[in-house]
Amino acid sequence: MRFRRKPNPNRNHPQYCPYCAGENLFPDEETEFAWACKECARVFSVMFHGQDDSEHQPAQSLSTNDALRASLARKGELPGGGK
Ligand SMILES: [Zn+2]
Repeated sequence: MRFRRKPNPNRNHPQYCPYCAGENLFPDEETEFAWACKECARVFSVMFHGQDDSEHQPAQSLSTNDALRASLARKGELPGGGK
């Protein structure tokens, strides 16, 4: 599963200025992703592109029906079959 997507300017806004750590940030008209720091007068952009795939993927879990069927089969109690 890929978690990369087109950056969305309405998400993941910065809490602190990366230059002075100021918290007085406002959206700037430079780009949709630009933020202006009112403490150091810098304008910067922040974009979130998503996540890379992890190296190890967990095994797909069984559906409830398949898990029940596997459990009953382990205990020798399959419905409608045997005895
Ligand atoms: Zn700043």
